Amino acid sequence: MLNGVDLINLSDEDIRRARLAEVALVSQGAMNSLNPVTRVRKQIVDSFYDHGVRLTETEQTERIAGLLRRVGLEPEVADLFPHQLSGGMKQRVCIAIAISLRPKVIIADEPTSALDVVVQRRVMETLRSVQEELGAAVILIGHDMGLMAQFVDRVGVMYAGKLLEEGAVQQIFAKPQHPYTQLLMESLPSLVSKGALQGVTGAPPSLLNPPAGCVFHPRCPYVMERCKVEVPVFRITGEEHQAACHLLDEPQKALQRGSS
Ligand code: SF4
Repeated sequence: MLNGVDLINLSDEDIRRARLAEVALVSQGAMNSLNPVTRVRKQIVDSFYDHGVRLTETEQTERIAGLLRRVGLEPEVADLFPHQLSGGMKQRVCIAIAISLRPKVIIADEPTSALDVVVQRRVMETLRSVQEELGAAVILIGHDMGLMAQFVDRVGVMYAGKLLEEGAVQQIFAKPQHPYTQLLMESLPSLVSKGALQGVTGAPPSLLNPPAGCVFHPRCPYVMERCKVEVPVFRITGEEHQAACHLLDEPQKALQRGSS
């Protein structure tokens, strides 16, 4: 739902209009989402034309220069091809395109993958500043829990297409309730505890034939018989925190788990 409109029920034409104008995507791998044989200017102008925004040449130039400056790039970048840009610059061009029609929601799908940490930081700072300026909501998709901790207000942990845990970022990081979230946290390197990193054993399931019961049960170290047949429902675990795990119905086991 966006502003009371169910996007799922929109016609093809209405959803096309809503894309970019209402909901924009900053996709994973900027190098693959830009057209390599088209100059940056044309790729930004396309978004205007496709949404019925008609501008004079001068207005176009000014608007593109403004968008590029907004993401920390010089206006001259408009005349370059994507292959002439670094990875970080390409990702910023993608952000410039995403904000060109001032959307209300920006979906950023792993926007910093394949970038080094310094460029990663700059891209995230750019995203945060445009978010604040537009007043847009950002949905950040990713596996980098450290990045999540720094950027988001709320976290939703998903596995095999299902939401397993959801809550305020401080609560999720201070007291993760779902075994999958806990394992994700344990897989992060720590400056304090040295030694081998913990991972999640096994492999992700096929989404064509997901496991019955709890989707995480084939990989869960705390699996019980009921987990294999019964889908866990969400339980409130804190003021702004909920998780879907059968252990939450079994305080004794949850206690043992906490002390293990
Ligand atoms: S419901 Fe069962 S299998 Fe799923 S995460 Fe909880 S303990 Fe593990």
